[in-house]
Amino acid sequence: MNKTVLVSGGAGFIGSHVTVELLAAGYDVVVADNFSNCDRTCFEGVKKITGREDLPLEVMDFCDEKQTRALFAKYPIDAVIHFAAYKAVGESVAQPLMYYRNNLQSFLNVLQAAQDQGGCNVLFSSSATVYGEPDKVPVTEETPRKSATSPYGNTKTMCEDILRDTVKASEGKVRGILLRYFNPIGAHPSALIGELPRGVPNNLVPFITQTAIGKRECLSIFGNDYPTPDGTCLRDYIDIVDLAKAHVFAVTRMMEGKMKKDCEVFNVGTGRPVSVLELVNAFEKVNGVKLNWKFAPRRPGDVTAIWADPTLANTEMGWKATRTVEETLKAAWAWEKHLAGK
Ligand code: UDP
Repeated sequence: MNKTVLVSGGAGFIGSHVTVELLAAGYDVVVADNFSNCDRTCFEGVKKITGREDLPLEVMDFCDEKQTRALFAKYPIDAVIHFAAYKAVGESVAQPLMYYRNNLQSFLNVLQAAQDQGGCNVLFSSSATVYGEPDKVPVTEETPRKSATSPYGNTKTMCEDILRDTVKASEGKVRGILLRYFNPIGAHPSALIGELPRGVPNNLVPFITQTAIGKRECLSIFGNDYPTPDGTCLRDYIDIVDLAKAHVFAVTRMMEGKMKKDCEVFNVGTGRPVSVLELVNAFEKVNGVKLNWKFAPRRPGDVTAIWADPTLANTEMGWKATRTVEETLKAAWAWEKHLAGK
């Protein structure tokens, strides 16, 4: 019998790409989402890409303990990948209680249900935000975490600790992997799923594609006076399909008992620093479009430079990012055009 993976927040940007890769790898998947920050577009796209019209969807809220328990009772869940969380940094500063309540409560309920069913493999979607402004780049998993600059970032650090402590107390019954994502961008090559920000995008690539398509007037590049080669920030942009595949490697590692410790941490990045300006130039070049952009003041809370040392994920999990920035930016543009019906 196939193993079953529950994907909480599985209708969102990362969750939908992960669902596609899990199905391709032969896992049974249960998608659960409350559609608080996405519509059905990506879920329908996943069904089209995979031909799985029967893909189970549970519309539910993980903040509701009863609903979470009922879900675990309904399916034989071998692993859960937890994405269901709010993710807008600025909004979290304005509404910290909403962020702490949602992001912590939902994860607590998932872990409680996982523990109560006698154990489970739990994969938590963490973020490079836990490294703050690092003293040294690239960052390895041993790089000390720093206090986050937003409630959103704090919830990532806290959930990491909650999972670690739960694993420790469970004496091997609950196993955990923390994947620390760098900057996931792009879309599925089919252009049937991708990022669907509500309102004005906070992230760079959706802002670029929306500007290119004419939905936004002008991209602001936040800061050109950083101590970097071209003055703009450096990030590790990772293709969303590459990132999704890392989840399959991690889940399989847990299922096959290949973990070295009951709670492991992996950076999911390319190891390749790219500046904001380089990304903008690459987008224009590879897609043959002219982008309206200007330099603007720094955005509060941005770190100057961060990129991954992905050696551990490469050697231990056997996973490696393969796609070029150009391929990824092509996919992002194809998705934006698909949305616009072009
Ligand atoms: N950025 C920008 N203009 C935008 C959005 C982002 O110049 O409209 C910059 C931002 O300052 C940072 C980089 O792009 O240096 C990546 O930002 P994003 O919000 O995508 O991800 P973050 O690294 O903050 O998680």
